[in-house]
Amino acid sequence: LRGVVALDGPSGTGKSSAARRLASALGARYLDTGAMYRAVTLAVLRSGADLDDADRVAAVARDAGLAQGTDPADSTTTLRGEDVGVEIRGPEVTRAVSPVSANPAVRELLVAEQRRIVAHALSAVGGIVVEGRDIGTVVVPDAGLKVFLTADARARAHRRARQDGLESTVDAVLADVERRDAYDSSRAVSPLRPAPDAVELDTTDLDLAGVLAALLDLAAG
Ligand code: C5P
Repeated sequence: LRGVVALDGPSGTGKSSAARRLASALGARYLDTGAMYRAVTLAVLRSGADLDDADRVAAVARDAGLAQGTDPADSTTTLRGEDVGVEIRGPEVTRAVSPVSANPAVRELLVAEQRRIVAHALSAVGGIVVEGRDIGTVVVPDAGLKVFLTADARARAHRRARQDGLESTVDAVLADVERRDAYDSSRAVSPLRPAPDAVELDTTDLDLAGVLAALLDLAAG
């Protein structure tokens, strides 16, 4: 792959697994921007900061010592060298990540860092698959390929419940998916929406192999 593939869309569309596989198949790097918002959220929760205290949240984010790896086979997320890859998938972080992501100073900080990582990957290996919500609209608006993944909410809840294991029921996950969708699409800063030049891919009836095949087609396209 030469250049950037931007993969955006809500959670539970199969985005992460497909992005990772796509990057491996194309010999490219992989950037999970959601992991970065989650890691900053973990740092905020650990600090005890009030999520509504925008200045304090921004200060914790700046100080978090976040580093996001780009190896598709093992993309680590660390805070001051501590691997937080498991903890950032937990329910506390998932509950708090939308409000932290809505903080404009947090977004400014992470978008700048994401652009730096992309530039570095392009000079090192020539290509990167970047996954998130605002990659095609904000982070890399000149990406060579932009794909916006969608799927109906129930299909997304099923995928997420499977990922989370037996602790979550589909209904609970569905409620969470719908709450985060509403929040992510309505916020003033960087709402979740497809770039005008993005290809929309509905994954409701596709398994991982199907999503990957469709993406490989688009990338070859
Ligand atoms: O992709 P994932 O579900 O891990 O993302 C977690 C949260 O991080 C999203 O619900 C969204 O609030 C936020 N996010 C964002 N911008 C991105 C990636 C994620 O605001 N580019």
